[in-house]
Amino acid sequence: MAISHTYTRAILGVESPLILVEADISNGLPQMQIVGITDGKMRQARERIKSAIKNSGFKLPDRKITINLSPADIPKDVSSFDLPIALAILKASQQIPDTRIEQTCSMGELALDGKILSSHGVLPASIACHRAEMKLIIPLLNEAEAALVESPFLFTAAHLSQAASDTCPGCNHQPHDTQPPSNPSAITNSLDQIKGQEHAKRALLVAAAGQHHLLMVGPPGAGKTLLAKSLAGLLPPMDFSEQLETGCIRSAYGTAYNYSQDAHRPFRSPHHTASAAAMVGGGNPPKPGEISLAHNGVLFLDELPEFSPAVIDTLRQPLESGYIELSRARARIKYPARFQLVAAMNPCPCGWHGSLNNLCECSTEKIRRYQQRISGPILDRLDMQIQVDPLPPSTLLNKSKLQQPSEQEKTLKLLMESYQFRKQRSSWLTGTDSTETIISACNLSGDHQVFASLLANKLNMTARGFTRLLKVARTIADLELTDDVRKVHLEEALSFRKI
Ligand SMILES: [Zn+2]
Repeated sequence: MAISHTYTRAILGVESPLILVEADISNGLPQMQIVGITDGKMRQARERIKSAIKNSGFKLPDRKITINLSPADIPKDVSSFDLPIALAILKASQQIPDTRIEQTCSMGELALDGKILSSHGVLPASIACHRAEMKLIIPLLNEAEAALVESPFLFTAAHLSQAASDTCPGCNHQPHDTQPPSNPSAITNSLDQIKGQEHAKRALLVAAAGQHHLLMVGPPGAGKTLLAKSLAGLLPPMDFSEQLETGCIRSAYGTAYNYSQDAHRPFRSPHHTASAAAMVGGGNPPKPGEISLAHNGVLFLDELPEFSPAVIDTLRQPLESGYIELSRARARIKYPARFQLVAAMNPCPCGWHGSLNNLCECSTEKIRRYQQRISGPILDRLDMQIQVDPLPPSTLLNKSKLQQPSEQEKTLKLLMESYQFRKQRSSWLTGTDSTETIISACNLSGDHQVFASLLANKLNMTARGFTRLLKVARTIADLELTDDVRKVHLEEALSFRKI
């Protein structure tokens, strides 16, 4: 028989569909054809596979070799298909006597000497094979990434000859060590590093407790970036399913997720020159963008008005839905994108508008144009908007001793209690909750309800803006472990919408 088959997995968003790899060796002029991919990619893959087979102690069949990859309509990153194609050729030319590769998945790009190089998408493939109880051979170089999946079906190989021998009868290959390390600390920046700024720190606490989107407005040097980084340190550690999601996105992006180093929540801070494709994902082959890399963590946009308005507007849909869908000729690709947006901006182009210490040189028209670069719908979605003023030099020079327990420890304790309280209330509010759910979760009664209605009318808020105000008030009540939202909570929520 000169036909054989084996399997591999493609990457489609964070999914990993199964691909059948068939090899046919027939009489004819010695050549290799790969059906199902473009010519340019085929030529490169063909040369790598031919050299790797010859340099691994095997013989390249001196006949016509046809490779078919199906289904044809799935976009394919061909480099990770080198290994399964080489294995299918070795089986069809009877250089591997065993039939087990027919039920095996493998992935990895081959170097000319037969070494298996690292591959994109190993983690989604490992999860898919574990669920399907199917053996998967991955590059040894991706072992740390796959360590998140504790699976008896996962095998590693460093070289084509090793991957081929693993499929031999009697081979006693043990699954690799999949002991995950303990979860490292989630803290990246500490509140103890920030002097003064009590209102901003309180806003960070509320934003962390309710995962609210936050805008900070203030002159250069007021400490907006340090505050944003501290927020990432206040968020609770990711649970296992969140780590799997984040790991799959990183794997699809091509930067391996290392469980021992990356278990803290992502903090992404793209530059304001970032394109729409860099922000939401795109390219060929498609890759996740910044909003997906920030999934389960914080997306920090410094100097928000400097971003292209078109790029900022692309955030609207994922901010509501928690995912982004990209249309491609052959497929629709969906990436998770549930992130906490933290943005910072100066009050005017020069930065000193409203400052007592420095003179603003911008005209009223210039300031208006600058602030209009951020559209109303995006401002509406930023639940909290605070002013951050620079500290007077006297505060900066104050030598305060580190208190015990530190401010960071106290804040984390408070947050943990509010998470517990919120879970017991059994209505954990997320970005996609309806207005009715939020109003009912607030338990407004009597005077407090009247006050809320007055507030909505007086401030001429949009329905979305008012709903978001209620959510922040609900979070403040949670921090006090209180079932009912009261006037005092609404007032404080309003103090975080001063822009
Ligand atoms: Zn100015």
